[in-house]
Amino acid sequence: MNLNTFNALCLPPGATLHEALARLDATAQGILLVTDAQGRLLRTVTDGDLRRAALAGVSNEAPLSALPAHPPHTVSLQASQRDVLALMDAQRIDHVPVVDAAGRVVDLVTRRELSQRVYLSSPHLGEDEVALVQEAFTSNWIAPLGPHVDAFERELAARVGVQHAAATSSGTAALHLGLRLLGVGPGDVVLCSSLTFVASANPIKQLGATPVFIDSEPQSWNLSPQALAVALAALQAEGITPKAAVVVNLYGQSAEMDDIAPLLERYGVPMLEDAAESLGATYRDRPSGSFGKLAVFSFNGNKIITTSGGGMLVSNDAALIEHARKLSTQAREPARHYEHIEDGYNYRLSNVLAGIGRGQLRVLEQRVQSRREVFAQYRDALSAVPGLRWMAEPDGHQSTRWLSAFVLAGGDGESPQARRDALLDFLERHNVEARPVWKPMHLQPLYAACRYFPHAPGQDVSRALFEGGVCLPSGSNMSAAQRARVCELVAHGLELSWRSAA
Ligand SMILES: *Cc1c(COP(=O)(O)O)cnc(C)c1O
Repeated sequence: MNLNTFNALCLPPGATLHEALARLDATAQGILLVTDAQGRLLRTVTDGDLRRAALAGVSNEAPLSALPAHPPHTVSLQASQRDVLALMDAQRIDHVPVVDAAGRVVDLVTRRELSQRVYLSSPHLGEDEVALVQEAFTSNWIAPLGPHVDAFERELAARVGVQHAAATSSGTAALHLGLRLLGVGPGDVVLCSSLTFVASANPIKQLGATPVFIDSEPQSWNLSPQALAVALAALQAEGITPKAAVVVNLYGQSAEMDDIAPLLERYGVPMLEDAAESLGATYRDRPSGSFGKLAVFSFNGNKIITTSGGGMLVSNDAALIEHARKLSTQAREPARHYEHIEDGYNYRLSNVLAGIGRGQLRVLEQRVQSRREVFAQYRDALSAVPGLRWMAEPDGHQSTRWLSAFVLAGGDGESPQARRDALLDFLERHNVEARPVWKPMHLQPLYAACRYFPHAPGQDVSRALFEGGVCLPSGSNMSAAQRARVCELVAHGLELSWRSAA
């Protein structure tokens, strides 16, 4: 419910039973909150309370204070959804008011919302997937490899505007293969965006190489060309040429390739584009994932399209993709028996899952449109909320808005992180799945010893984005009612975070 609805639930103890009945009717939430002049909750009033009062002969014109005393069951702003549910079950109630440290009632959680979770990004199947999977069953291609895999590779390559593609069991597997194909091995240095999911960096370490992390730039949140230039020059001065650069396209948007690609080229560093989050996006009218020497996509369950799990490695270099196919099937040599010269992996996508992927690819454009609409609705609905800055979509970019994300300002003695956590707690209490922005790799204990180049001296952009950043539910299958619910909750939650700081 929005703030106005919530405020309309609050009545003074001097209001009459008749007024309460009318208010219950008008607000239709099944509950009212009786508050004193300071906003402290005295009791709740339900239909049942009013009915029992009428049966007991209490006059319609009597004040609410004439009702038998009934101390309310409440939770604090620190309560989790589990706490709320436990209280509902123990007291057999369907509404739990939330009170702040001063005892003022500031929110209400209803059992109805606790039965309807809004997910961050859930799978959204189209109409063709079942038939395509059925085809795999009918033809008994329940194997890795098969006609769906070949077709999925062709169709994805065509969609992304690259010549060749190899389907893999995950995006992480594709990243591992891609780095290996670029010759990354023990002792090498590999550049990597710091603001990303850990899967961008782990294969670097697993190949025995050392990641060097690069900050984001403030507008688009993607790899800072400025920091990259400093890093390349600094490493060159030490006689180090990075073996590769993992450039991440964050939350559905390409990195600034016009600046990044020539820089990497000048230093002779091949780009592995981590486009796991940016399938369907374009940069200067070119599809995301067509800029790197190699690029990686993911079809994990939370991505814009999904095969439940899967990935793709793409390139215009036929030999690289041919090699990827070999390495991903245990690096078998062409011989009748099992002959091995290189060590390989079991990284191929199954033919069944590729069938799902083909169906998903057919609805990719609709999924992009839906996610952009979700973002536009959030931006419009929350335009009046102060202290909130959306991830920008600079000129030349078409983002998919895979996740709608914003960063909060601090203020009034409250840090951005404190406001972010208060908002996330609030949303979780209302059964809405939201997340902090990725915690940058250079802040992870796993990579604490690695070098890091900030956007500018003393300006750690990705850290600030993490501390104040929030990703909202962004699924293409969110209903209009769910979107509206999240908008109202975010506005309410942020209002509270300002008020509690004031
Ligand atoms: C999801 C993701 C991956 C990993 O993909 P999986 O298919 O889950 O292995 C890699 N990088 C980024 C940026 C991602 O978001």
